[in-house]
Amino acid sequence: MPRPLVAGNWKMNGLNRDLTEARAVADAHPAPNCDIVICPPATLISRMSATLEGTSIGVGGQDCHHAGSGAHTGDVSAEMLRDAGADHVILGHSERRSAHGETDDDVRGKVEAARAAGLTAIVCVGETGAEREAGRTIEVVARQLAESLPDGCDGLDTVVAYEPVWAIGSGGAASEADIAEVHAVLRGALTERYGADAEGVRLLYGGSVKPENAAGIFAIEHVDGALVGGASLSASGFGAIISAAG
Ligand code: PEP
Repeated sequence: MPRPLVAGNWKMNGLNRDLTEARAVADAHPAPNCDIVICPPATLISRMSATLEGTSIGVGGQDCHHAGSGAHTGDVSAEMLRDAGADHVILGHSERRSAHGETDDDVRGKVEAARAAGLTAIVCVGETGAEREAGRTIEVVARQLAESLPDGCDGLDTVVAYEPVWAIGSGGAASEADIAEVHAVLRGALTERYGADAEGVRLLYGGSVKPENAAGIFAIEHVDGALVGGASLSASGFGAIISAAG
């Protein structure tokens, strides 16, 4: 089993003063039993990198453009994230897919750009509530996985996060049985496509992970960590999840 990864997605939250939360996580976990990444808004990446310098905590972006540079007002390239100090980037988050119309093809182009820039892509897949109710969960996540990932992925450049859209920010995570079912399918699909290279690709669960449910989620087969939204904003909440991972 790969070393667990706990990644925090700050979304559009975080000002200069909030860097103290990240520093507090680092100070409380000088030798963690899992990998840790914090993904602040793009405005904070450079300062977050400086804040966490010398610690084992990585820094990630929350999106990047597929192009390296050019006339794309408001966008940020993978190389810019890397230049600012990031080592990871979340791609295909459901909030990007729904609010910005990102397709699997778009996400795949971004993953290729991330890889070219030396970033590890945390690629999100997950069904909506309507898709689950229609019995389409496996079909949807399998398609997103197949079409959002380029050929040649491995554990160094790719992490996959299963994030059921209906569980994100809801306060209630998916059931352990539902997580186990989807993660087994994703693991099987990765192995079928990438063979031995897939072994190191970590499968995170995301969607209302909290200190209270983290240990149970981490104990599920094929769960290699978590992508954490709301609970990653405070050092105490995120720290408790980190402790549960190791
Ligand atoms: C997320 O947005 O990636 C997420 C998992 O959010 P939350 O933990 O708040 O459900």
